[in-house]
Amino acid sequence: MKKVIDRIFFLKKQHNAVVLAHNYQLPEVQDIADFVGDSFALSKKAKESKADVIVFCGVHFMAESAKILSPKKTVLLPARDAGCPMAEMVTVHDIEQLREAHPDAAVVCYVNSSAAVKAASDICCTSSNAVRVVRSLPNKRIIFIPDENLGSYIAKQVPEKEIILFNGFCTTHKRVTVEEVDTARNAVPNAKILVHPECTPQVVEKADYVGSTAQIIDYANRSTDEKFIIGTEQGVLHWLQAKNQNKKFYLLSQKLICPNMKKTTLKDVLNALENMTYEIQISEQEIEKAYGALDRMLNV
Ligand code: SF4
Repeated sequence: MKKVIDRIFFLKKQHNAVVLAHNYQLPEVQDIADFVGDSFALSKKAKESKADVIVFCGVHFMAESAKILSPKKTVLLPARDAGCPMAEMVTVHDIEQLREAHPDAAVVCYVNSSAAVKAASDICCTSSNAVRVVRSLPNKRIIFIPDENLGSYIAKQVPEKEIILFNGFCTTHKRVTVEEVDTARNAVPNAKILVHPECTPQVVEKADYVGSTAQIIDYANRSTDEKFIIGTEQGVLHWLQAKNQNKKFYLLSQKLICPNMKKTTLKDVLNALENMTYEIQISEQEIEKAYGALDRMLNV
């Protein structure tokens, strides 16, 4: 494996490339990345980066967001079939129908969506900034797509707005059950339970803390507690445990593994840099429209 890693570093230099990896990636992929973060942090990195090539170790919509924010750069997705089921649950036609039914509402689109859906929305958000984005809008009514669970969480945090929900969901986080929360609490009674708002409202209700991937990491880093049960994708534990050797982390459910986030291997990263594959292509017109929705989010 050392040979593969050495070659990755050599090609990175040669192509002036940067490797961005999501917190849910395989540990060995996180370890060779220039930057590891959640989708909000990675969107910002992609925009600020001076590299000519961005190798995006994540899923398709994330690499698309990087391309939208950095249209002049070559953006590569090493595992061509790494998609996000949630992002495929909503279409432009769904937005048109929702706008027709609620003409006074603003459309807030979770970044877990296609470029076309972003282009048809008013503003994007991530789970880190969703509450802030919704609060920042002048509209009383908000159409929130596609994640129903994140939308329900926002509705509780921002009661002054009416949130119109869509029925999308994360196939990984939605699988966590209330029974698993109870079992985990009994198994490690002194641990704090930290969950992602893509989990169901019933699971969120039972947690000690609710936050995005970055917020969960931040909470665990700062906390004086020593044990944490993590209710988000398993990949987060790699970084948390490496940076907090005096603390213990447990995965809330063994179902918290996103198969799409585990598709990218080191060999895929090498292949991406050797052959400049698989390049994200989006039409200029779509980039222009989707850029507005993402850029408005970054400015909130
Ligand atoms: S964890 Fe959920 S939202 Fe994230 S990529 Fe996997 S399926 Fe999509």
